[in-house]
Amino acid sequence: MKIIDILKQDKMSLSFEVFPPKKETSFENVKAATEAIAKLNPAFMSVTYGAGGGVSQYTLEIAKNLKYNFNIPMLAHLTCISSTKETIHQRIEDMKAAGIKNVMALRGDLTPELIANGRGDCDYHHAVELIRELKAADADFCIGAACYPEKHPESPNQAEDIKHLKEKVEAGADFLTTQMVFDNNLFFSFLYKLRDAGVNCPVLPGIMPITNANQVERAIKLSGSFMPQHFKSLVDKFGSDPEAMKQAGIIYATDQIIDLYANGITNVHVYSMNKPDVAEGILKNVSAILGKNFAG
Ligand code: FAD
Repeated sequence: MKIIDILKQDKMSLSFEVFPPKKETSFENVKAATEAIAKLNPAFMSVTYGAGGGVSQYTLEIAKNLKYNFNIPMLAHLTCISSTKETIHQRIEDMKAAGIKNVMALRGDLTPELIANGRGDCDYHHAVELIRELKAADADFCIGAACYPEKHPESPNQAEDIKHLKEKVEAGADFLTTQMVFDNNLFFSFLYKLRDAGVNCPVLPGIMPITNANQVERAIKLSGSFMPQHFKSLVDKFGSDPEAMKQAGIIYATDQIIDLYANGITNVHVYSMNKPDVAEGILKNVSAILGKNFAG
């Protein structure tokens, strides 16, 4: 099933993101975790793609397993910045052969080498080039792209970032998923700016449940996202008690999701980070509140 068709349904939906293993040895553990999340029957799942290659083949392997053995609509991520045209064309063919119809088209983060040496001889510079290639390879691909409510860190300002975002939608992105947001107001003001700029496709807020204190610094470093004081207070109070912090993180994420639904957002994407217990906690809370208005 195409993700865009799920996003257009009347019912509210929740989707979960998982990531492939960093080492071959941990593949079975990751596979088991992603299967446990699939058994919760979310609206769809996405699998990230390691920008540096190496274990990237697992993205497709995990996506295929969940699609064919658990009947979950799957979104496979693909990055282009460190890849040659030849590699990308091969990856696109692999996806077509695997029957994967939904692709999250990304540039990927710049490696230290690319930052030091510049990107002059790279085959790809921006995600928009990958979107064009995906569309050219198969017009039937349903394509997602990334967006940044607090602007992408490399952008000089938000207006410039939104200008390039619009180019991605015009090139064929069917929907957008945001960088993690911890303050819903930032998401809503971003959404108004997108609509004002003529970007009218579905935009999924990305919610990252922070369930242990060590995640906080990493999440901020990775995303640059603003963390509200009332969330920092939770970490201060419960960060040294793992079980309490896990529950506090689940409740904070649930509260964000319910507030989004209450204010007209119908689809939310959760960075579930291969944690079935966290995904289950959020899903149970959300379905208890939404009941029959909830599609999973
Ligand atoms: P782009 O859209 O290319 O944008 C990058 C920067 O370039 C922005 O500042 C933009 O304004 C600017 N820009 C865009 N087009 C142009 C242009 N034509 N001319 C000049 N400037 C331009 N990384 C992974 O490695 N694997 C993943 O699976 C992954 N999944 C992600 C999922 C989501 C929802 C998000 C939000 C991010 C994800 N990332 C992933 C991280 C992502 O790769 C980085 O944030 C990366 O730095 C930017 O990727 P992008 O696709 O947004 O790039």
